Amino acid sequence: MLKKVIDNNLLLEKNNYQPITIGRLNKATLKDTVKLKGIGLHTGNESKIKIYPANVNTGIVFRSIKKEKGEIQVTPWNVKNTRNAVSISNGIWEIHTIEHLLFAFAIAGITDAYVELSSNEIPILDGSSKEFYEAIQSAQIFEFSNYQNVPIKLVNPVWVVSEDKYIIAVPSDEFKITYTIDYEHPDLKGRSLHIKLNSKVAEKEILSARTFGFLKDVEYLRSQGLIKGASLDNALVLTENGYLNERRYIDECIRHKVLDLVGDLYLLGKPLIAHIIAYRSGHSLDIALAKNILKNLENDELAKLRYY
Ligand SMILES: [Zn+2]
Repeated sequence: MLKKVIDNNLLLEKNNYQPITIGRLNKATLKDTVKLKGIGLHTGNESKIKIYPANVNTGIVFRSIKKEKGEIQVTPWNVKNTRNAVSISNGIWEIHTIEHLLFAFAIAGITDAYVELSSNEIPILDGSSKEFYEAIQSAQIFEFSNYQNVPIKLVNPVWVVSEDKYIIAVPSDEFKITYTIDYEHPDLKGRSLHIKLNSKVAEKEILSARTFGFLKDVEYLRSQGLIKGASLDNALVLTENGYLNERRYIDECIRHKVLDLVGDLYLLGKPLIAHIIAYRSGHSLDIALAKNILKNLENDELAKLRYY
């Protein structure tokens, strides 16, 4: 008999004890410092990052090796740009392409950490969140056993619409995503993916999906100063009817869109319990939804959950 219980405010299905959202029951940081390096997808800059443990309730905080640039707290309100990637700023400097690292934090359940950069972009690595996640696991995770990681559970629908694109979050008893993409490509025309997500499922089904781009757009994006670091080693490249390199999943592109969405929503700093329905969404809509979720919380009894 399937019986739902409330345990530490995170709903679990008792019969097999499967968490119904991503993350952990308690807040957590890393046990050790971990280093990663690579090039930035858009800037092409060589970048080294170090992820440090942090005290409980620090949140995720970016800082530069140059102390005078100051810190940047991860929250939707600090997002500066959403064109092709998410960048955040404190008004002094800006960090690009944070979403794949945030996905790794989200599913590893890291709520508190410092990320120090030598450059202004998080390295793209293999184009997915796999190497970030593996690095976090290798540093091991420290749970703050007295501090629950209370998810945001929606009580009202929240949405964002922009022309024919939209993203809607509706109340649900579990975290699930229904995503539809519609690109001019035989594999990407009106395709949908419906997935219930917890960390285990996300690790298996979403974590390794790489960023993707169309060969026909490369010249234009480069002329706009974007994708200077893109290559077949860090992106799945689509031709008119096929692919230039091997896919990791048959529907890798839509899975990467889900990865971006989960990473973008982790600007909220906590797991979400809601059904997210996205149609041709992207970073700007994802971030607008995150802001609307926070605004919505201000108006109801869940406002107490907000800690920004
Ligand atoms: Zn991405």
